[in-house]
Amino acid sequence: MKYPIPILNLINSYMKLPGIGRKTAIRLAFHTLKMKDQDVTEFANALMDFKKNLCKCNVCGRINEKQVCDICLDSSRDMSIICVVENDQDLIAMENMEQYNGHYHVLNGVISPMNGIGPNDINLKSLLERAHDKRIKEIILATNSSPEGEGTASFIKNILKNTDIKVTRIAQGISFGSDIEYADEVTLARALQGRIEL
Ligand SMILES: [Zn+2]
Repeated sequence: MKYPIPILNLINSYMKLPGIGRKTAIRLAFHTLKMKDQDVTEFANALMDFKKNLCKCNVCGRINEKQVCDICLDSSRDMSIICVVENDQDLIAMENMEQYNGHYHVLNGVISPMNGIGPNDINLKSLLERAHDKRIKEIILATNSSPEGEGTASFIKNILKNTDIKVTRIAQGISFGSDIEYADEVTLARALQGRIEL
């Protein structure tokens, strides 16, 4: 039996979310049907605003509500260090640790030849532009310890080798394949403190 078109559309939309298969999508769609009109409107508005009110910071690439994000504008932070992370979730994990007071650069991905993602497909060019700033003394590579994260770190190290910037890599306290995003704060702090120069 076919579902009415509006329900089918919602099922198809839910199925675009990660980890949601057809069965769960159907359950969510029928749950949505039972929700109060006001709650559905709020849910829909949150989804609309989510995209409309967010943009990437022109400096670090972080997703936020302004052209230049609060971290990049914060003059109390250490201008001489940039921590390079794969994505916004990793940046948040670093911030939650409350032990890092430098700046960031969000790659929005990693180099992954297997998936056809090259250096030009991630936010790398602007990192090189930032590296011309003489105030930058250290770049910490905090990509994950996956093969792609390691490969991306080596690639960045290579393109920075003719600069005076010290390039460091966070210590491998984080076990292979586990994400920085999910590392506990103590492990992450240790990985940061134990960073090694490449
Ligand atoms: Zn920024």
